[in-house]
Amino acid sequence: MSDDDITPVEDVAREFATWVRDNADALVRYRDEARSFEDAVAVHRELQRLLWDEGWTRWGWPRASGGRGGSVRHRAAVYEVLALADIGVPETFQILEVAGEAVQHFAPELAAELLPRLVSGADVWSLGLSEPEAGSDLASLRTRIAPAGDRYVVTGAKTWNGFGHLADYSFALCRDESAGEGRTALTMALVDLHATGASTRPIRAMTGRNEFAEVFFDDVEVPAERIIGGRGNGWNVIAYMMQFERGTYAWPRQSRLHRRLDDLLARYPRSMAAHPGRLGEAYLDLVALRLKCRESLRALATEGGPGPNASVDKLLVVRAETEITSLGHDVSFPDVELGEDPDAAMWRHDYVYARALSIFGGTNEIQKNIIAEKILGLPREGRR
Ligand SMILES: Cc1cc2nc3c(=O)[nH]c(=O)nc-3n(C[C@H](O)[C@H](O)[C@H](O)COP(=O)(O)OP(=O)(O)OC[C@H]3O[C@@H](n4cnc5c(N)ncnc54)[C@H](O)[C@@H]3O)c2cc1C
Repeated sequence: MSDDDITPVEDVAREFATWVRDNADALVRYRDEARSFEDAVAVHRELQRLLWDEGWTRWGWPRASGGRGGSVRHRAAVYEVLALADIGVPETFQILEVAGEAVQHFAPELAAELLPRLVSGADVWSLGLSEPEAGSDLASLRTRIAPAGDRYVVTGAKTWNGFGHLADYSFALCRDESAGEGRTALTMALVDLHATGASTRPIRAMTGRNEFAEVFFDDVEVPAERIIGGRGNGWNVIAYMMQFERGTYAWPRQSRLHRRLDDLLARYPRSMAAHPGRLGEAYLDLVALRLKCRESLRALATEGGPGPNASVDKLLVVRAETEITSLGHDVSFPDVELGEDPDAAMWRHDYVYARALSIFGGTNEIQKNIIAEKILGLPREGRR
């Protein structure tokens, strides 16, 4: 099959929406609701298996990796149909869209082996970037990787790693002293979390869920073919990934926020009528986010990515999500604080989770620095 045979994005969206409607009864068990993190991941892995077997999540991945071809826009179309149908977009999509893309780009042979397992939910990956002393200043990380015969050995500690305690692999950025200096001394490795010397400890977030973990590497062996993009190339791998973390990440969130805003209007019409200004602001934020995300998806599909421009998407998703979940909190009060029904639990979760959005994937301040320096060309502080 040539690329010319790839079904257009609009047709995939239409066909998938029909399939979702036809299978609505069977899909109820995957409804978007507040679950413990462990339950959510287990349910979503089941959904991932189903969508992979039915072929829907094969769209947007190369045929060599078990996909059906197409671009990130095909994947976005599938996520949107799920979100609008009130089905939870699998939590693990965040990692898939970031690390999966990077492996596909920098290590296609490894992707052919591992991507089908990742997309179908057979394996879970975690992003091992942050460390106790290295968050915004990622280049100062200390976890080491060193050659040992025909393999490598990783030693150190990561923190705040989403899915860490449930993951099979860590996509870990490491310091590789013998590969170079500064940023060229960083190497990305896919580390098996079931290997000897790897351990994890879950961290409870303020949502009450164990969303992330500390991850410890005590001389964990890594085969040479699990070095992603070559030694000393870790910073380029990160720069590539971040376009997806800050760009693609926002798309399913905006689809879901559209649905959540509609839910709010349907469930609390009187309270919402008391906040016309906030509703208008929230809607405008959402439309701005949607338009910007569409542009980033187009750039990812046709021009190799939005580059630093993806930082704008990240700021817009933070603004829209904070606005809408605050509105949801206020109009559903006091249910949101005290209610036990699934809707109240969901608004409670969303309201609290939105506070973390301005931190992960790079804080708001870091995004503004990137926009100032790389898009607006302003001088760096202290370097005039
Ligand atoms: C819900 C959640 C999920 C996460 N998931 C992951 C994950 O899967 N994998 C992973 O590796 N990490 C993850 N993280 C960690 C996240 O990436 C870091 O918390 C984030 O990069 C900030 O780093 P830090 O916490 O060390 O804060 P710091 O870097 O210490 O920043 C503290 C404050 O100083 C500000 N600041 C720092 N440097 C500058 C600067 N140069 N200019 C202006 N202001 C600055 C920051 O904006 C912030 O307000 C997650 C975090 C959260 C909250």
